[in-house]
Amino acid sequence: MTRVAIIGAGPSGMAQLRAFQSAQARGAEIPEMVCFEKQSDWGGQWNYTWHTGLDEHGEPVHSSMYRYLWSNGPKECLEFADYTFDEHFGRPIGSYPPREVLWDYIKGRVEKANVRQYVRFNTAVRFVSFDETTRLFTVTVQDYEKDRIYTEQFDYVVVASGHFSTPKIPEFPGFEHFGGRILHAHDFRDALEFKDKNVLIVGSSYSAEDIGSQCYKYGAKNIISCYRTAPMGYKWPENWSERPQLTHVDQTHAYFKDGSSTAVDAIILCTGYLHHFPFLEESLRLKTNNILYPLNLYQGVVWEQNPQLFYLGMQDQWYSFNMFDAQAWYARDVMLGRIQLPNLEEMQADTQVWHEQEQTLEDVHAMYKFQGDYIMRLIEQTDYPTFDIEGVRKTFMAWKQHKKENIMTFRDHTYRSLMTGTMAAPHHTTWLQALDDSLEAYLQELAPVQQKVG
Ligand SMILES: Cc1cc2nc3c(=O)[nH]c(=O)nc-3n(C[C@H](O)[C@H](O)[C@H](O)COP(=O)(O)OP(=O)(O)OC[C@H]3O[C@@H](n4cnc5c(N)ncnc54)[C@H](O)[C@@H]3O)c2cc1C
Repeated sequence: MTRVAIIGAGPSGMAQLRAFQSAQARGAEIPEMVCFEKQSDWGGQWNYTWHTGLDEHGEPVHSSMYRYLWSNGPKECLEFADYTFDEHFGRPIGSYPPREVLWDYIKGRVEKANVRQYVRFNTAVRFVSFDETTRLFTVTVQDYEKDRIYTEQFDYVVVASGHFSTPKIPEFPGFEHFGGRILHAHDFRDALEFKDKNVLIVGSSYSAEDIGSQCYKYGAKNIISCYRTAPMGYKWPENWSERPQLTHVDQTHAYFKDGSSTAVDAIILCTGYLHHFPFLEESLRLKTNNILYPLNLYQGVVWEQNPQLFYLGMQDQWYSFNMFDAQAWYARDVMLGRIQLPNLEEMQADTQVWHEQEQTLEDVHAMYKFQGDYIMRLIEQTDYPTFDIEGVRKTFMAWKQHKKENIMTFRDHTYRSLMTGTMAAPHHTTWLQALDDSLEAYLQELAPVQQKVG
């Protein structure tokens, strides 16, 4: 029997499980699936842990998420086309749910699909190699529950291990003498730790924007963020200033390119992540920056040098859950023989065109469109339910505008579902006032009817 190994049970790996199950439900014969997940539960980044550094098994901690994290974009842009928010919650909810609420949503679909049986939890993939003669992969894993290292063979491997877990860490002169705490965003867990502190945020990405906002919301004294190329450009609260590049620090102060300096208690490096696959042999290893269209991946998914290997979710992500779905359905159909791949040269030429097109994109609006077009291209080749991608693009534009208007209130806006047409319900508390991010607190003012359907 054909065997597929899926590495990781985050949203991408869960999408792959659901894609196969959906084909099976329609009568297809599917391969034997084994999903290896090094954590004890599924959900990937959305499975919060208080741990930093190493976990209880000595594995590098995977999740970079923190307490009080709310969706950074409208949920209407990431909704599954085959399992809507209406189906899961049974009634409209807000547009920017907290982490636990989104985790509940992604779990709801795969629980309904009954695919947990295919996941081997607490099992880390240690090494994957490919034999040209047998055309099989050998996958070596470590099962922490049974304290056993073993090897199995597979016809296909799907790498769904994510790329926001291995910190990219810059070095600045004076770091070794700084008297406060220096941490990467990967290790940030709770903004309360920085209450009444002067916090320096290095970077101008989503992490910088959101971790700074968390620190503001939970009572930091001052927030200073610094950028390498351009300021984030939002209208910040009074105690938040933006400075150009950090040049150095001493025991108590940070110094910037414009000659200014300020006292800081803690430095948070929001400087991005590395695509890191230490468990793949060299010929299988994707090497890329965080971009929209990496080279070597045909249709953003198929490893061109060996089309028995697939990568999911390796792009920079405007779209997330429904993009992983489009990719998983496509990878599934290649594995089921429903999609025939062109030869290597044709695959490379196709990827090159998209990769080069990405270089011409001038603003975020063009990026939303580019990634939307990419997703539509995938969906048109499979039976994944099609949806109003133009509507999603417009929702992204409204989101951007709302952030420009007020970075501290954009999460109070609501949008219409592009899947069901349902208008989101305003949340009972504004984001700035809502200090409890639990699922219970979030759903508490919903009428006491069934909260989950299906
Ligand atoms: C701080 C932060 C905030 C974010 N906020 C949002 C947001 O608001 N909205 C949004 O849409 N997206 C957000 N994202 C993006 C997020 O990465 C995606 O939503 C999604 O989690 C990616 O899914 P994935 O399955 O590709 O990877 P991941 O979620 O990273 O899951 C990968 C899985 O693979 C497992 N794994 C890794 N290596 C191995 C191994 N060797 N062996 C076995 N298992 C392994 C991990 O344990 C993990 O479960 C955020 C990301 C971060 C870091």
